[in-house]
Amino acid sequence: MSLLTLESVTAHYGPAQALFGVSLSIGEGEVVALMGRNGMGKTTTVRAICRMVETGGGLTFAGQDLTRLPSHKAARLGLGLVPEGRRCFAPLTVAENLSATARPGHWDRTRVEALFPRLAERRDQTAGTLSGGEQQMLAIGRALMTNPRLLILDEATEGLAPLIRAEIWTALAELKAQTGLAILVIDKSISELGNVADRAVLLERGADVWTGAFDALEPALIERYLGV
Ligand code: ATP
Repeated sequence: MSLLTLESVTAHYGPAQALFGVSLSIGEGEVVALMGRNGMGKTTTVRAICRMVETGGGLTFAGQDLTRLPSHKAARLGLGLVPEGRRCFAPLTVAENLSATARPGHWDRTRVEALFPRLAERRDQTAGTLSGGEQQMLAIGRALMTNPRLLILDEATEGLAPLIRAEIWTALAELKAQTGLAILVIDKSISELGNVADRAVLLERGADVWTGAFDALEPALIERYLGV
């Protein structure tokens, strides 16, 4: 059964239309890569799911109509967002950042620290003193602490050092293999996405133009929709 379904979703920023009909679905335990060149609507699709932009069309999550819900209520249904730009509370410690989003379930601080041992090492450091990659780990940890049914990563490894990017991809692969969490992931690295994603959805000018098994993404498609 589908966990998340978008049917012909449109979105506007004031008078400017950014999505012109995005349809996609994510099943339980599925990892879906949302891809497309800059400005094609990836972040806006995430904002539509998380109720952070005005939308039309159909959005359902876990059997509930998302379009009727404000963002804080949608989050409570189990949407765990790791936003672009990470956004942790800089003056709070790593431990405090994690506790701040905690909700009962499988994920607690011990489990997050086991997934990201660096966060255990930095437990008492303020988030503002972490490297960009560590902040991204913390942002993922904060989303996991909400015990989401769907984890959404907008730019999973953008702008991070290669070593730490590898650690994040390893963690995502572990999440998939060990917990079967459904994941929607945006990233520019096609090869890294290919290691975790079951399916890909390609966006072009605010609409989905291709959906299929990640392995079926042929060079011609990549050139046409992702090439610069
Ligand atoms: P990127 O990879 O650059 O983040 P994206 O695929 O995530 O790109 P979006 O950020 O969703 O694309 O942008 C889709 C369209 O909406 C673009 O034309 C963009 O200029 C526009 N847009 C995005 N955010 C806003 C905003 N806050 N106000 C007005 N227009 C916006």
